[in-house]
Formats: sequence, structure tokens, C-alpha cells
Amino acid sequence: MPTLINAGQSPFGFHRIHTFMTCPTKYYNSYVSNDEKPLNTSSSLIIGCLVHTALAHRYAIIKAKQENKLHDYYYPIDAIQAQAQQEGGEWLNWIDKSIRAYETYINADTTIEFEKDLKILDVETVYEISIADIVLTFRADLTIEKDNKFYFIDHKTCAYMTDIATDGYEASGQLLAYILYGRKQFHSIFGGMYINFIAHGGQRSEKMSTKFVKVAESEDHLNNFEDSVYFYAKQIKSLEDKSSIAYPRVQSEFTCVHKYGKCQYYDKCFGSKQN
Ligand code: SF4
Repeated sequence: MPTLINAGQSPFGFHRIHTFMTCPTKYYNSYVSNDEKPLNTSSSLIIGCLVHTALAHRYAIIKAKQENKLHDYYYPIDAIQAQAQQEGGEWLNWIDKSIRAYETYINADTTIEFEKDLKILDVETVYEISIADIVLTFRADLTIEKDNKFYFIDHKTCAYMTDIATDGYEASGQLLAYILYGRKQFHSIFGGMYINFIAHGGQRSEKMSTKFVKVAESEDHLNNFEDSVYFYAKQIKSLEDKSSIAYPRVQSEFTCVHKYGKCQYYDKCFGSKQN
């Protein structure tokens, strides 16, 4: 059976810190509790995962070819189908759309330009950053060399391409971790961090587009990153052996209900409601 690449979250990545910052109770439900997790059936999330899987396989195969190595990876479209079959349910409904989004990406002029003279160093590789006694991990979607510089590339999918959807990522701790690691590891040959955006049109539209954007770097924001991660990681540690009651709730209409709908633990938190 061909290999299906794991393009999921890294063991202690910024997603954990972010979940705790968002709501400690959400963190408890996601990473501490042994209760069965409610299935996330958001179409955006499913299409995003499937397209991401296809890209991971595309670049792993290109890397193997560049290194004259044999590979046993699924081909990208087969990988979409294999992952959707593995997950089952709602995932099966989004196979065709995910394939169309992937094909839009590979045929885009920006992709053809990007892949010219590209040397792939790593695909879906987990790196570590030590912050005092905390080890933060991150999974880089793609590490490349181009024109004698090293770059990290992160694939992001969204329903519609808006400036907020693309520019907002410069504030993301996940991407700050990539930039800090790149600076520390590659020094002056680190060229920066790029986002490979693919808009798939969501549930309502077939309008698809792609965009390749360099993540703007703010020294202020970067300088604060390690202290902030350390602060939240210590709080997570201090609650490690505690029960759910010890974890505060955020209780905000912007967090319990967000742009993708209700928090997946909404019903658990609210229990039975009275009007
Ligand atoms: S519903 Fe609100 S309080 Fe409950 S876990 Fe989600 S964000 Fe936290």
C-alpha cells in the first residue's frame, strides 16, 4: 500500500499555545480530556486538509525525483481520495472540490513560476525551538532553496481570497516560530517565510484562485514571541494534573461562537439551557 504522509499538527506546536490563549477550557477538552472529541465537519477545514495532503505528496514526490530516489507515496489526487476514505462521513463529499482546488493550484502561473529552479530540502518536517525549558515544535510544510537562500513555505487554504485572510497571518505565532527558527538556523541565508494561498470558494462558489505572499516581519512582534510562548506554556504546565474545573473559561461571544460557527465544545460547556 502506498504511503500517506501525515501533514497534521506537530506534537507541541503553537496550535496548543493558541488554543490555551483562546480558552483554557478548550485546551483541556482538546488535549487533556480523554472524552471522545466531537467531529469537526466544517467544509473549509476538510477541503483545507485534503488540499494540504495533495500538496505534501506533490512536493515529496518532486523531492524524491530531484534526489533520484524511488518513492512509495500516493500520487496527490490518490492521496486526497485515500485520506477522505480513511476519515469517512462528510469528508467523502469534498473529494471532487478538493481535487479541483489542487488542479487550480498546479495550473496557476504563480505555481509554475515558483516551481522553476526550485530545490526542495524538506517536506512536512517537524523542527524544534527551545525556549528556556520549553520545547516548541512546528511542522514546516515545505523547506526550499532558491537563488542561494532558504525559505519556509506554509500552505493555507481559505474559501475566499481577501486581504484580511492573507495579510493577517503576519501576526500568527505559528509563522513567527518559523521565522525565528529560520533566522537562528540559517542566519543571513534565510530568505523568509512565504504563504501559498489557495482559495477554493467554500460551499457556495466555484471561484478558485491562488496567491503567493511573503510574510511581513515585525521586529516588535518577533521580540515578544518567546516570552509570550514561555508565559502560556508555564500556565499550561501548572494545570497539568488538575481537573477540568481548574481550567478557566473564556465566555466570550467572539470565542464561543466564531466565524466558522460554534466552538466544537459549545454544547458540552452549556449543558442544558433555560430561557
Ligand atoms: S464554548 Fe466557550 S468556554 Fe466552552 S470551550 Fe469553547 S470557547 Fe471555551
